[in-house]
Parts: sequence; structure tokens; C-alpha cells
Amino acid sequence: MALSRLARLRERLRTTKLDAILVSSLPNIRYLTGFTGSHALLVVRPRSAVFLTDGRYAGQSREEVRGCRRLVAPYSLLEAVTENGLLAGCRRVGFESQHVTYAVYRELRRRFPGVRLWPASDIVEQIALAKDARELALINRAVGLTDSVFQEILEVIRPGVRELEIAAEISYLHRTKGAEKDAFEPIVASGERGALPHARASGRRIKRGDFVTLDFGCTVDGYSSDLTRTVAVGSVSRRKREAYELVLAAQREAIQAARPGMWASELDRIARERIRKAGYGKFFTHSLGHGLGLHVHERPRVSSLSRDRLVIGSVITIEPGVYLPGEFGLRIEDDVAITPDGCRVLTSAPKELLVV
Ligand code: ZN
Ligand code: ZN
Repeated sequence: MALSRLARLRERLRTTKLDAILVSSLPNIRYLTGFTGSHALLVVRPRSAVFLTDGRYAGQSREEVRGCRRLVAPYSLLEAVTENGLLAGCRRVGFESQHVTYAVYRELRRRFPGVRLWPASDIVEQIALAKDARELALINRAVGLTDSVFQEILEVIRPGVRELEIAAEISYLHRTKGAEKDAFEPIVASGERGALPHARASGRRIKRGDFVTLDFGCTVDGYSSDLTRTVAVGSVSRRKREAYELVLAAQREAIQAARPGMWASELDRIARERIRKAGYGKFFTHSLGHGLGLHVHERPRVSSLSRDRLVIGSVITIEPGVYLPGEFGLRIEDDVAITPDGCRVLTSAPKELLVV
């Protein structure tokens, strides 16, 4: 039988020679224990795991939390760690450096003076890299909802409509179709605003001849989808069409190439090379993609600087784009799962340039 997630984390502690780790990232706590509330801490040692939360979540945690001792603290969770001696005898203790604020770090130093605090960044994310069948099913459900929202949102995009109205409709549709929430604030960027890769939706009204970039996703049982499509409003210039075909070709080439064992940086290079050769290299200003799961951005990193390899079961996005300042921008993003012989594209929204 496959080792439980907590058991795998405990094994990892042994190989990294940590006496304990403090898991404070809520998505990671959810991944390891099943807890969905908003205040918790998990203390994992090679032979034990203790989950801490406050009184508001006493009942909920009793129902949700599996695989560890549960402690309901009437006060600060770190105080409960001290009072219950949960780190007694520990010399080297890991903490999730990318999720811990400086204030919490200082409190850790003050409370546990004899302990050497070790930045164990991404230790849980490494375990979560390969998704199991249940996780893939949840991501697929989130992706399915987002695909169907895309179909319906096409009806809403027309000249005169504000970006914010489209964003509100996306959020509304996600929830009415059964999502927990948006995975992130929907991005709707039209006309020259499309040149801002992560533009928030604004009061700008859609105009004929615009490209409109929509980047949105939802969460189902903690797992996220992430889709980007760029659509044309009425007929658009030849330059826009050429740029669209180029980005689409680069995206397809990367999807063709993705396979287990390859460096994620190599995948980024393949798409970037295609765009660079066509003279648009300096307009592709972000990384090719990112891992997707409990976090909207997680391991593996899919960028030129990544040191991650793709593994079977990891889910990544492939999302090249070009952004011409003051003119327009476009991006095409799919979610793919790495399979033994390549990858499977999870998103199914059409990719040929749609004119609405
Ligand atoms: Zn996205
Ligand atoms: Zn993305």
C-alpha cells in the first residue's frame, strides 16, 4: 500500500536530518490532514504528528483531521506547542520559510531558543509533486467547470461591456456550477490593457477590434484549475492574427514535447525559442508555466531558471504569451498532466482564434 502523505513527510524528515517540521501553510495542512479551516499548525516529528487549531474549529477538525493527534488550543498555537512540549528534545526544526512571516519567525526564535531553525522550503510541495488518482479527479472537475464557464462567457463579451462585468460573471458562473470559489481573481484584459500580463479587470469597455485575454480558474475540494484564452472582438488586425498563430504554435510545440524526466527549463526553452525566432522574444516576458494543484502556483517551476524535472502525475500549466506595450497582448494557457509517455491536456476550451 502506498505510504500515507504524513508517513512520507516523516520519512523525508529522517533523510533531511530534521527532528521536526512546523507546517503552517494551510493548503499544505489540508493536503496532509484533510483540515479545511483557516487556523491551524501541524508539528511533525519522525514518530509523531500533532495537529493544533483553536476552539472555533474543535468540531470541524474532529470530523476532518486524520492520521495525527489533535490538540485544540485555547490560546496561541505556538504557545500550545511550548506548553505541551511538542518540540522537547529537538535540535534542528524545519519551518516553511516561504510561508512564514518575519514576525512569526521572530516568535519562533524567542520561544525556542535552543532550537536551530531550518528553512525547509518546499518540503511538503516535493511530496505533493505527483498527484494521485483522487487529486487528478478533483483537478479535472475544476477544469471541467472552468471550460464550461468559458463557453458561457463568450456570450457576454461584446462591444460596450466593461471588463469588470465579465470578471463578475466568471465568478458567478464558477460558483453556480459548483466550485468552492475562484482559484484567483479573474483576469480580464482588453485592448492595450492586454499588454499587462496580470492586469486586474478594470472599468474599460470592450471595443470592436480588441483582443480580450481571460485568465481564470476555480477550486474544487481545494484543487484548482487555471485557463487562459484570448478572443477577438469583431475582426482584428493582421498583426494580431499573426501574433496569435505564433503563440498558439509555441504552446502546441511545448505540449507535444512535455514528458516525464525532462527538465522543466527545457520545456520553457522550446516555447521561448519558437517565439524568439519569429522576432517576438522580448515580448514574452514571463515563464512558460507553473505547477498546479492545492496552490495555483506550486512545484514544479516551469521557467528558464527552474531546476525541477517533470514527473509522472505532476500537473502543470503551459501558457506562453506576448505583450506589446501600448498595443495589445495575448496568452493561451492549458493545464496538462504528465503521463508515462508524454502529457494529457486536461483543459478542452477551443484554441483556434475565436471571433465574438
Ligand atoms: Zn492562468
Ligand atoms: Zn497559470
